[in-house]
Amino acid sequence: MRPCGRTLAGARRLLRRGTVALDEDKKTKLRQIAEQVRDLRESPLFEYRQENEYRPVVGEGDPDARILLVGEAPGAEEAKAGRPFVGRAGDVLDELLEGIGLRRDQVYITSVLKDRPPGNRDPRAAEIRAYRPFLSEQISVIQPEVIATLGRFALKVILDELKMPQRGEGLSDLHGRALEADYGRVVVVPLYHPAAVFYNPDLQGTLEKDFQTLARFV
Ligand code: URA
Repeated sequence: MRPCGRTLAGARRLLRRGTVALDEDKKTKLRQIAEQVRDLRESPLFEYRQENEYRPVVGEGDPDARILLVGEAPGAEEAKAGRPFVGRAGDVLDELLEGIGLRRDQVYITSVLKDRPPGNRDPRAAEIRAYRPFLSEQISVIQPEVIATLGRFALKVILDELKMPQRGEGLSDLHGRALEADYGRVVVVPLYHPAAVFYNPDLQGTLEKDFQTLARFV
């Protein structure tokens, strides 16, 4: 008589299939978010995107990443490629990730705005309002353990989004810390934007040190 119940190998196979199904589900949902952003005619940046033949930059990386990096807004290089952090700031980011043993395909990278603002100016309130639902959706699909914010805009939006007590505090006080949020037990790590080193080279050392906080979650 065959023993009833599952063998360990069978259970492992089922578990693997379950994980693959979950990944596929996340991929599908992220693809749907990307399609919604692509079709977002009501965005204040939609016309500017069309006029310049830019592409929306929704995000890329591992849909099941433990670490989600959130930048500010795509620059010209990113808007031409439709990919986040492929310009000079991206080189800095890649090096910082490499410094803690990570490749960009092991994290998920996105930004608050999914389209380039003219001349890389600061994001406006109406623009943040237009794209924020997509960032919220990305967070709830990916379910990261850590959200690393790059720059003051991403920090403000994420602290608001997760209703954290540090709302209103600045990046110069919070950078490099691991802030625990109630939301799904996620940790927020505020970081300077990698492009900040172009204006203030001293921040390179600060960024490297602050990335060590992220390294604890690798
Ligand atoms: N800076 C950002 O904040 N996001 C990008 O995608 C590129 C540069």
